[in-house]
Amino acid sequence: MIEAHISQHLNAVRTASQPFVEFLTTSAWTKRLGAAGICDFVVGNPQELPLPAYVEAIRRASVPRSPGWFGYMTNQPEAREAAAASLRARLGMPFESDDIFLTKGASSALVVALSTILEPGDEVIFLSPPWFFYEAMIAFTRGVPVRVKVDLTTFDLDVEAIRAAITPRTRALIVNSPNNPTGKIYPQETLKELAEVLHAASEQYGRAIYLLSDEAYNRILFDDRRFESPTAHYPYSFLLYSYAKALLTPGQRLGYLALPPAMPERERLRSALFATQCSGYGFPDAVLQHALPELEPLCIDMAQLRRRRDRLVSHLRGHGYDVHVPEGAWYLLPRSPLADDMAFVELLVAEDVFVLPGSIVELPGYFRIALTASDEMVERSLSGFAAAIAAAEPSSVSR
Ligand code: PMP
Repeated sequence: MIEAHISQHLNAVRTASQPFVEFLTTSAWTKRLGAAGICDFVVGNPQELPLPAYVEAIRRASVPRSPGWFGYMTNQPEAREAAAASLRARLGMPFESDDIFLTKGASSALVVALSTILEPGDEVIFLSPPWFFYEAMIAFTRGVPVRVKVDLTTFDLDVEAIRAAITPRTRALIVNSPNNPTGKIYPQETLKELAEVLHAASEQYGRAIYLLSDEAYNRILFDDRRFESPTAHYPYSFLLYSYAKALLTPGQRLGYLALPPAMPERERLRSALFATQCSGYGFPDAVLQHALPELEPLCIDMAQLRRRRDRLVSHLRGHGYDVHVPEGAWYLLPRSPLADDMAFVELLVAEDVFVLPGSIVELPGYFRIALTASDEMVERSLSGFAAAIAAAEPSSVSR
């Protein structure tokens, strides 16, 4: 028999995503997923029916208006222009429709960006606590992941630590604001400092260090906060966006990569990005491309999400939890009452409440609550959160 061959290179990819993949495939949550009566706060998945306007837009886009309606599609011009117009209006920067590259969500935008700019062995800095798949994606695109911690007291970027991690091999830095899991929106001053560091290092080593700005949550903002795009401060930036968050439809794969107007050598990059997109044909499906102009202005009810955040924060604090209030994105990040967050999460599981242990996102001693649960689930969970902290041994409290 001839043995199946699996690329050696995949080992690095597998190892990098292993904690989350193991949780996804073997945890108590996986076994109970979708069961009646559980309170599911693990990932940003819808627990209620989608926005009616979303369903209507998809319904309309599903009815062909021309023979080519479901034909091969790359970066459809109307969809590109709708995305560019929205960026112009929201960020006040003159984005052009030819600089929008439509992708199957932010994940595929990240892979397109990394594949386009990396040589094998190039280093890519990512920030810890990270989104689950950054490290695996960097390995997948033949880069070398370099981890830098954010400031764990403020959750702001540690610009000095980033500067210290840059080497002659550094090709890119991934920044995610508003941040999953910390809820931090990086302030303008930090972004300016970061831009100075990246500029100086690019000059010093004679090659551009690209900023990959993961803005998946850039419309999920609380308390009238403004989002500051890192791309406004540094020309060598890629803006990566997903419609999965504003529309709460992560199974409908739609997003884009945008080149900001100040990006040098845009013409060359445009054709390189298009070639990368064509390899693997990772364009969004035709229906989603047709629907995009109608989907663009829609957003989940942020007032409701905020009420849900505040309800949980006050209830949890009232029962002795130490909870940090997010500025954006849709996660709460309480401290685990037990130093071992995996053990504490089990106490919640006993109450039918499912959350993500902080250890899975390199944040031991915390757990993460996705606010995309329904209001009904939130109300049902309150007694479970109270019972779990009461059951935690006071002697092993982590603070
Ligand atoms: N980046 C971050 C920070 C995310 O939280 C997510 C989704 N949870 C993604 C990227 C991936 O988005 P998409 O589903 O559009 O690929």
